[in-house]
Amino acid sequence: MIEIETETIPLAQPELGAAEEELVLAVLRSGRLSLGPRAVQFERAFADRVGAGFGCAVSSGTAGLHLALRAVGVGDGGEVVTTPFSFVASANVALYERARPVFADIDPVTLNLDPAAAAAAMTARTAALLPVHVFGYPADMPALERLGPPIVEDACEALGARYADGGAVGGRGHPAVFGFYANKQLTTGEGGMVTTGDAAVKQRLDSERNQGRAPNLDWLDHDRLGFNYRLSDLACALGLAQLSHLDEMLAGRARVAALYRAALAEVPGLTLPCEDRDGARRGWFVYVVQLPREVDRDEVVRALAGRAIPAKPYFPAIHLMSFYRERFGHREGEFPVCENVAARSIALPFFPRMTEGQVARVSAGLRDVLGR
Ligand SMILES: *Cc1c(COP(=O)(O)O)cnc(C)c1O
Repeated sequence: MIEIETETIPLAQPELGAAEEELVLAVLRSGRLSLGPRAVQFERAFADRVGAGFGCAVSSGTAGLHLALRAVGVGDGGEVVTTPFSFVASANVALYERARPVFADIDPVTLNLDPAAAAAAMTARTAALLPVHVFGYPADMPALERLGPPIVEDACEALGARYADGGAVGGRGHPAVFGFYANKQLTTGEGGMVTTGDAAVKQRLDSERNQGRAPNLDWLDHDRLGFNYRLSDLACALGLAQLSHLDEMLAGRARVAALYRAALAEVPGLTLPCEDRDGARRGWFVYVVQLPREVDRDEVVRALAGRAIPAKPYFPAIHLMSFYRERFGHREGEFPVCENVAARSIALPFFPRMTEGQVARVSAGLRDVLGR
C-alpha cells in the first residue's frame, strides 16, 4: 500500500521549551504577576539586543504603534504617510488619534514603502511617516529620513533584521515597534515593545501605557490621558526566555528560507522573497511567494489545503478592505504595485523547526498545484 502523507503542516509554530517553563513558573510562584521586575529586565535586554537606548514593553504591537504615533506628535487632523501593503494595524493606529492614514505605493522588489511615492503623498498636514519592514526586510530608512517628518517604524515583522548600514532594526533612534504575537520571531503570546533612543519618549510611553501615571506621583494621580497597554510579568518572563535562544530561532528561520529558495527557485513565473542587497539583511518572519500572474490565487490556496498544506493570502491591500473603501472611498487602481503583489501573494508554512521533509512536501505540493 502506498502511504500518503496527510498530516497537516502548521502554518506557524512557536518554539517553547524548558527556559520558558522555568521563567514563567518562577513568576507564577512569586505571586507578582504585573508591574514586577520582569518587565524592566525584558525591556533592558531587548533594547540591548537591538542597540536601542530604551525599550517599553506593551500589550501588543498595535498598542505600541498607537503610543509611538502619539509620542511623535500625531493627533487630530494630522496625516500619516504609510504603506497599503501591511497588516491592517499599521493604518488603523492613525485613526485612533483622529489622524488620517495616507497611503503611498511600494517598491516592487522589497515590497516596502517607496520613498519617492511617500514624498509625493506628503502635504502640509503630514505629521509622520510610518514605514513597515514588510516580511522582515528593512525599509530604505536613509531615503525616508531625508523627507523630514518624524518617523515611527513598524518593525513588528523585523526582529533580527539589519539596515543597509549594518545597524539592527530598532536601534535607529526613532520609535520602532515590535510585535510578539504567537507567529512572530519572538513571542509572549500577545505583546509588543517600543524601542527609542530618546529618554523623553521613553518616559511618555511608560506613562501612557499605564493610564497616564507620572513616575514620581502617587498611584492615583494622573497628569495626562493614558491607556492600559501594560504587558504582564508572566508575558515578560516568556519574552526573556525567548530572547535567550533568539539567535537559534532566527537561524532556524533562515535555514528554512534557504531550503525553500533551493526548492522553488526554478519554478517558472513564481516570485520568491527578494534576496538581501546593499548590505541590508532580512530578519526572516514568513515565507511569502508571488504566484504567476495568470494563476487563480484562491484556487491555489484551496488546492494546497486539499493536500493538508495551509497557505494564506498575505497581505491583502489595506486600502481595498471594506472598512477603508467605505470610509475613504478607496478603490482599485490607486496603488498598482501593491495591488498586483497583494493579489498574487501567499504565505507558506514557515517556522524555525520546519524539517527538510516538510519544506519538500510544501514545495512539491505547490509545484504540483501550479502544474510546473
Ligand atoms: C504583527 C503585526 C503588528 C502588530 O500586531 P499585534 O497583533 O497587535 O501584536 C503590526 N504590524 C505588522 C506589520 C504586523 O505584522
